[in-house]
Parts: sequence; structure tokens; C-alpha cells
Amino acid sequence: MKAITVEPGTINSLRLEEYADPISDPMHLLVETIALGICGTDRDIVMGHYGWAPPGTSRLVIGHESLGRVLVSPEGSGFSAGDLVVGIVRRPDPVPCPACGAGEWDMCRNGLYTERGIKAVDGYGSQLFSVEPAYAVKVAPSLGALGVLLEPASVLAKAWDHIDRIGRRTASWKPRTALITGAGPVGLLAALMAHQRGLQTHVLDRADRPLKTDLVRALGGVYHADKLPPDLQVDIVIECTASSPLILDALCRSGGNGIVCLTGVSSSGRTVPFDVGAFNRTVVLQNDVVFGSVNANRRHYEMGATALVAADPAWLARLITRRVPLTRWPEAFERHDGDIKVVLQFAPDPT
Ligand code: BGC
Repeated sequence: MKAITVEPGTINSLRLEEYADPISDPMHLLVETIALGICGTDRDIVMGHYGWAPPGTSRLVIGHESLGRVLVSPEGSGFSAGDLVVGIVRRPDPVPCPACGAGEWDMCRNGLYTERGIKAVDGYGSQLFSVEPAYAVKVAPSLGALGVLLEPASVLAKAWDHIDRIGRRTASWKPRTALITGAGPVGLLAALMAHQRGLQTHVLDRADRPLKTDLVRALGGVYHADKLPPDLQVDIVIECTASSPLILDALCRSGGNGIVCLTGVSSSGRTVPFDVGAFNRTVVLQNDVVFGSVNANRRHYEMGATALVAADPAWLARLITRRVPLTRWPEAFERHDGDIKVVLQFAPDPT
């Protein structure tokens, strides 16, 4: 089979190469890859800034946003040949820590977790992949090719799940407004879930982009190009850009009992002036919460799937702005103006 591999830590080491088919394992699903979503994490790995090869090897099969079709399934696994599936990204640490032991590998405490296509386990960027049934999630046939959005949706489903839980600390919490910084796939999926909660949603992105503006308006939201009105205060902020000035702004946008969720993995080294005293005073006097959120456990994939199924499929389809055939695979890793989600197509989409 063909696989897209990279040498983590080495810039531009990406290549499409012949790889051995997955070793047949009667306990695993054998899956034919249909599509692979490409995200900022993949591009960071390609740039040599992130990623780890499996122990004893120098190359990693990249790819963690999968969509595939089951070819072979173990008896009693709950899956059948032909099912559309997405593979879960993270695996619990081997110790396991209390969080991983409870099935909450997204909350791993000792950092020894692994992630397919990112950290020490081959990913889903190959024509075939093998996955344990416990780490596969069925995609509703009605979602079809849009199932490739499930992994990013699971990350936002987790962020919202935790926001909802934090909100319940006070019986009077009835949020009405949300601000999402960033209108990439993550920001737009965050906005979709804000809309599904009935919140008036503001989305901030770098420049005025007609498609992104349209997508936000279709949710009844307000798109802000480049800057926010100085007095905008909201109940919930989800920061999806990982850009230092925007993070700073996001921290100051929540009103009383506000919740700010940071989801972007930023690089370090850029400093911006920050009045810690004023920030602390506001957070304390307003009972604000600022928290970080990464990854997703199985429950969040299921919540993400529910959110996608409830969304307008035409709206979701517009998030996928480029589908690159495997024969032209390098283009999937390029950044083109107007890109939202780029998908690498391994096999024809389900009809
Ligand atoms: C993935 C997460 C992963 C995170 C950190 C993100 O791009 O969607 O599943 O936990 O990167 O590696």
C-alpha cells in the first residue's frame, strides 16, 4: 500500500512511499482509507516542529483526521464490512494515570499517551489502516464523506462539554453570547456548536473573507474582520488561533462568571506586554475561568458525531474547500488562499 510518511524533527521530509500492508490482526478492524483531513498540527510536523516517530523507527505515517470503510471486522465487534469509520487519535498511557485508567486519555496526567499520526504511533495516512474496535467510531451513512470532519469536531465537542460542566458550577448560569477567535475549521466548528446551543455567536478572523463571513452569517452569527468592537463582552470565549495578541484579547472579553477556553497549541518565544495584576483582579472579581482543552475521548467523538448529524450538510460541505487526489498529495500540505479544510482523497467518497 502507499503511505505518507515523515521524519519528525526534519523539515520537508514528507514523502509518499510503498509500505507494508497492516499486519493482519483478528482483533482489529481492517479499514480502507477514503479521506484524510489535514490540519495545522500536520503542517507543524511537516515543518519539523512537532511529532514523534514510533520507537525504533525514524519515520512516522502522518495523518490523524481519518475517514475509512471497514473491509474486515472481528466477530462481535459491533462493526461490519462496509461501515464508515473514523479512528480515535489518542491512546492511553501504559501506566495508566488515573485519567487514562478511567478512559479519559484526553486528560492524561503523565504525558506518556501516544497519538496516531502525531506521537509514537503510525497514523491513518495510508491506503489501509488497522484499528482496535474500541478506538473506532461509526459514522452515520447520512454524513458520508463529511465524516472526515469528525476528529476536529470531537476536539470542539470536548471543549464545549467542559465549558458546559464549568458553567454548571453556578445554578444561575444562562449564557447568551459566545466569541470564537479564528474562523478555520476548528473555529467554525466551535461556532456551529455555539449556534446549536442557541448562543449569539461572534467570530473574529484575520481578514474579511467572503466564504467565512457567509458561513458565520448562515449560523446567525456576526463575523468580525481583524478587530472586535472595543466594548464587546461575552459569556464564553473559545480561542482557536494560538496567536499571542488574540489570546491576550480573548482573555479580556469575558463578562461576569465568564469562561475562556484556549484550544490552540502555540509556539513559544513571542512575548507581549501583559498586566498580570489587572488580569488577576478581573478574573477574581468576576469569578471568571480560563482553561485549556486538547484532544477528545470516545464520549466526545460521539458528541461530535451528534453535532455533525444535526448540522446542515450543505453548510458542513462548504468547510471542505479543497479535495486533493492522492496522485497530487503534496498540494494537500500547501496553504492556499481561501482554504478552510483541505482533504486528501485516498479513495472515492461514499455515495
Ligand atoms: C489533534 C489532537 C491532538 C493535538 C495534540 C491536534 O491537532 O486534533 O487530537 O491531541 O493535536 O497533539
